[in-house]
Amino acid sequence: MSIEQQYRTRAKELLSAGEVKMVIGYGAGTTAERRRPLFITSPDETERLVLDSACIANLSGYLVTEGLLSDEKRVAVFLRPEGIRALNVLAAEAQLDPLQVVIIGFDLPKGELKALQGSSVDDFTALLGALKESTPDVDGRELLEKIEKMSPEERFAFWQEEFSKCIKCYACRQACPMCYCRRCIVDSNQPQWVNTSSHTLGNFEWNIVRAFHLSGRCVECGNCDRACPVNIPLRLINRKMAQEVLDSFNHFAGTSKTQEPVLASFKKDDSETFIL
Ligand code: SF4
Ligand code: SF4
Repeated sequence: MSIEQQYRTRAKELLSAGEVKMVIGYGAGTTAERRRPLFITSPDETERLVLDSACIANLSGYLVTEGLLSDEKRVAVFLRPEGIRALNVLAAEAQLDPLQVVIIGFDLPKGELKALQGSSVDDFTALLGALKESTPDVDGRELLEKIEKMSPEERFAFWQEEFSKCIKCYACRQACPMCYCRRCIVDSNQPQWVNTSSHTLGNFEWNIVRAFHLSGRCVECGNCDRACPVNIPLRLINRKMAQEVLDSFNHFAGTSKTQEPVLASFKKDDSETFIL
């Protein structure tokens, strides 16, 4: 039996037994290369679930929208390792109770579908620990290496050019599981911290503020740069920030549900004495 069929059966069993009130998975998209989120509440609908190499979106963000988990019932969700990391970050930031989430885990190493064993975040601790030690498989690695070799002036010019394309649609924010604030600082207009019009300075402010906000929290799922309609390589900034946080603080976002947020914690013996 294919993994897709096994997981449809699993989803059906969970819903039929009343163990979960909903299964969040993937359904057919508008083309063979695209999949869309599917929210299944009846065992009869589980045959609509699709699982293949086009299922790349991180679905964890749907768990914290519209009070989905506020009734304390459980929800099952299809997640790749990046999604499981996101679940841990959301739990560590007290945005959800991981006991309410049943993970239907899978991975796509080199585009090949692979089932992951386990159903709660703790079942994946070893897998996420190994991921921390591995060399990340980053789309655009060549470009990242090229940017790292640039002088600060060249790098500034590169990002200025990229950010000048930004149309402030905020699709990157909406697609990101870590951007769950009900009111984002860029939507605040009294005072208005970040200019909302689309011009180079405001675009720079927005994208850099977002990159800092994601430092130590980004799980490198790529939802943001896939959502960007003007193809700004957002994942490269997030990857760079993740590497800096790993090198400086040995922090890899989302390895456990009790992980301390790296930018919201401090040590009394921190070498940066100005903090105290
Ligand atoms: S910033 Fe982008 S890559 Fe990082 S968690 Fe958010 S959507 Fe995923
Ligand atoms: S998705 Fe792209 S264009 Fe839209 S706000 Fe984000 S960076 Fe700008």
